Amino acid sequence: MLAVLSGKGGTGKSTIAVGLSHILSRPLYGADVESPTTMIIYGDQPIRKKPVYRRVAEVDEGLCTGCGVCVESCPFGAIMLLGKAYIDPEVCEGCLACKASCPVGAIREKRIEVGEIRYGKHVVEGALKPGEKESRVVLEELLREVPKNAIVDGAPGASPLVYRIARKADEVILVVEPIKTSIVDASRVLEILARLKRPTAIIANKATLGDVRLIEELSEKYGVPIIARISFHKDLLFKRPLEVKEFLEELASIELKFAIPRAFSKPKDLPEAPRGSKFSQHISVVSGKGGTGKTLVAIGLSRYLGLPLVDADVDAPDSYTLLGNIERKYAIRGRVYRIDP
Ligand code: SF4
Ligand code: SF4
Repeated sequence: MLAVLSGKGGTGKSTIAVGLSHILSRPLYGADVESPTTMIIYGDQPIRKKPVYRRVAEVDEGLCTGCGVCVESCPFGAIMLLGKAYIDPEVCEGCLACKASCPVGAIREKRIEVGEIRYGKHVVEGALKPGEKESRVVLEELLREVPKNAIVDGAPGASPLVYRIARKADEVILVVEPIKTSIVDASRVLEILARLKRPTAIIANKATLGDVRLIEELSEKYGVPIIARISFHKDLLFKRPLEVKEFLEELASIELKFAIPRAFSKPKDLPEAPRGSKFSQHISVVSGKGGTGKTLVAIGLSRYLGLPLVDADVDAPDSYTLLGNIERKYAIRGRVYRIDP
């Protein structure tokens, strides 16, 4: 399995994954289950869907005696005794330790639908149900189906999802743009890959739009080769990757020979994160898709409105980089904190 990852959203990871699957005639799987777009970018659509469930425990109030044994047995603190036992389905991890402990058999298993696997003609992708949090369950279900020769369009960020995809992968291509935020996020993914010792290569995407030396420095620092420099193709803004001949020709020139990355030391000088801050009001800036400019809008709003900025993209925090050298300190409730790494 060849996984295509990026760190930062909007680098062209899915575009490259679609292009590679076409050029190499390998099946394509979309693993960005929280924001699935692989099928749309390919130009495919679902022929059938399979629901994905997670398991939780539920109490039969008619049988429950309120003895409280199950409360003690739950390792996740999901059960409360309110006369009878009550299980919070949002906290329950479905281990069923409580079921085994109940002396009267009042606990049963229940399934909750958390997403689906979509099967198209060319692409298979996982999709988390909006509002659900169990992306891990959907991803694991998808990864169980991925064949050895597949190309997997991974998730952005450096989250546990990315770790799971990388752990299953035989080889990884990391798509990097020649801009600072992409370099920072790619570094975080490279640390995961170095720990897992996954053969990795970099594709420098939109290479004609920035300073490629930034990517060369990254390549040198982690000992990961750059196997291709792909130009910025304006047509990709309006057309699907398989409709842009020049892009496919450029991608077809890649030699897929990877080198094992060296282990690399931890990043130095990690900034202090704000702790225990509470705000009576806040504005959340969200986007869905990566690369839309969410962080830039958040920074602009915070400056314009004079509000402190909190970067909650813990998987791929960029605001610290985007703020530049001068403005990396913000006052929160009278104290000055450095915000995110
Ligand atoms: S152990 Fe069984 S009977 Fe006792 S409180 Fe829990 S569910 Fe009710
Ligand atoms: S299934 Fe596991 S996590 Fe859920 S309530 Fe029972 S013991 Fe707790």
